[in-house]
Amino acid sequence: MSGGSRPGRVIALCGGVGGAKLAMGLYRILGEKLTIVVNTGDDFEHLGLSISPDIDTVLYTLSGLANRELGWGRADESWNFMDAVAALGAESWFRLGDRDLALHVERTRRLKAGHSLSEIIRDFAKSLGVKAEILPMSDDPVRTMIVTSEGVLPFQRYFVEKRCAPKVERICFDGAALARLNPALDRAIADPDLAAIVFCPSNPFLSIDPLLSVPGFAVALRRARVPRIAVSPLIGGKAVKGPTGKIMGELGIAANTRAIADHYADLLDGLVIDEADRAESASLALPVRVTATLMTSDEGRKRLARDVLDFAAQLAVRRT
Ligand code: GDP
Repeated sequence: MSGGSRPGRVIALCGGVGGAKLAMGLYRILGEKLTIVVNTGDDFEHLGLSISPDIDTVLYTLSGLANRELGWGRADESWNFMDAVAALGAESWFRLGDRDLALHVERTRRLKAGHSLSEIIRDFAKSLGVKAEILPMSDDPVRTMIVTSEGVLPFQRYFVEKRCAPKVERICFDGAALARLNPALDRAIADPDLAAIVFCPSNPFLSIDPLLSVPGFAVALRRARVPRIAVSPLIGGKAVKGPTGKIMGELGIAANTRAIADHYADLLDGLVIDEADRAESASLALPVRVTATLMTSDEGRKRLARDVLDFAAQLAVRRT
């Protein structure tokens, strides 16, 4: 993959905002050779609409439509619908912008007409000019439920309405046991051109574990004959954004790169960590690449993606 040779296919495992940043960097380098498997555990039905927050974040990020100021939703947004909803006294804790609404209305219509989420997302990606393959982890419903000190909360109630304040005791993935893995993922893993599998720096517990909860996913990853690399979501022992560090503390796990490596265990061949965590590399029992992992610009996203691909190429050579 390095040294100017033609890049092979890469599969990226991704949640929302944090994961999509690296997915974007990879997309800039790989284009249609990128397959992104996205968490659907955050999906929910709200105001009669089927909403897939992580998939939409990936779609908006890769198509250049993401709202960079808010960090979620669509750019150039207005809020007339939401204001009108609030004026009716209806639920307004989950904000849907006027432009963003189009995706949810059309997805809901097509799901009701019997189309699969995969087909719908493939068509949306095409319409938005995204060439990467974006795969929901499953077309069957999987719903992340957070067992907290205040009772069991569906993911969005915990994350958006309660702003991650309740103490997390356990995380469950309702429906996972019966969910079928997206068959396109099996094909992507079997692709002779596959060069690497990348765990984006998404929240391991809320964004990547739902993927791993789908029967067959972890087995397929273990069987893959290419380097599997994760990028740590922690920098200097802290999450860049969001509750990763808080949740690790509440679950009794130290917020460090060793815990990230231990969490993914034998699914990983290598871990990318930040310069700020360099001192921890000696305690890690797998190959480590230390680099600057904070992605604050398009250039930063692409640079980290290059580092990840270079690391994968290096690990692939070691295997042969
Ligand atoms: P969400 O579903 O929108 O919460 O997003 P993800 O689960 O995909 O990503 C959240 C994680 O991304 C957090 O744990 C952050 O620490 C991590 N993250 C966000 N930006 C960056 C970054 O620039 N570099 C690294 N290494 N991690 C990041």
